Amino acid sequence: MENAALDATGMAYVSGDCDRRSDMREDAPAIAALRGAPDARAVVIARDQAVLRGEGESAAALHGIDQAAAIGAVRLEAFLGLTPAGAPRFAFWLDDGAVEMREDASDGFLDRRALVVPGRTDLRLADLRSLAMKGAFDPPTLSMIATAKALISWHATHGFCAKCGAKSHAAAAGWRRECAACQTQHFPRTDPVVIMLVSDGDHCLLGRQARFPKGFYSALAGFLEPGETIEAAVKREVLEEAGVLCRDVRYLASQPWPFPASLMIGCFASASDRALTIDHKELEDARWFSRAEVRQMLAGDHPDGLASPGKMAIARTLLQTWSDA
Ligand SMILES: [Zn+2]
Repeated sequence: MENAALDATGMAYVSGDCDRRSDMREDAPAIAALRGAPDARAVVIARDQAVLRGEGESAAALHGIDQAAAIGAVRLEAFLGLTPAGAPRFAFWLDDGAVEMREDASDGFLDRRALVVPGRTDLRLADLRSLAMKGAFDPPTLSMIATAKALISWHATHGFCAKCGAKSHAAAAGWRRECAACQTQHFPRTDPVVIMLVSDGDHCLLGRQARFPKGFYSALAGFLEPGETIEAAVKREVLEEAGVLCRDVRYLASQPWPFPASLMIGCFASASDRALTIDHKELEDARWFSRAEVRQMLAGDHPDGLASPGKMAIARTLLQTWSDA
């Protein structure tokens, strides 16, 4: 079955279609007028999850502005932009007190929190990963929720000025924080991560971390460091984690990965040789896989039960593109 939350590339979170209208962010009266428009809607985030109305296929992630404000105390409102039809979209961040931790994780690891709102039984919390995997929403809506979540995660962890330590406050319709003590402006951060499929002829290099599910292998990945190019980061990470020198780094695509605020930069690279020296602090295992084996993993019928990333992730796009070549 096709997953409706993914766009044609097979990736989640890459299909935002809002015009962000950053030119309007400083114009408080204009933002207030948009907020009052009849077609204005808000994505509501509590802690780091989306608040949904209803269940299953009829679940909705967009709330009327008044209804969103009535769910609970709102810590922050951010203007996300205008849809292609011109409808204003906002992100509301609820006070932590609106959600209650639930210890009996009946829905696996994904939904451990209950939303407690007096008089409302139609609201629930949904983890962004599970929304992507279940194909709950169309790609632009899922991408909008991801944008809201990444932005709000930044506010949640940047309440104090990184320069002087004083409390900071939100500005520019949620797209900046300012420090009244030292006048420094702070902007939402995105953390670049390189993720690369290294190949040599008809074999490619995949690794697994100890925390991965049994038999699950993926492309190597790591954070870009200050002063590095994408190409240098790819080469360094592959050398550090697998002891393989590589060359000829080629960019394929990128994917916002809002856990909490990464940008996955998907690349191919060519190995100079196949000898492996695995850094076991980073990887439990790494090995070379033939194209035939990768095709079996993608199809879910590998004889040893080995598996690869699901469709929502850019690692899958890298593997699929390479195995189709
Ligand atoms: Zn300051």
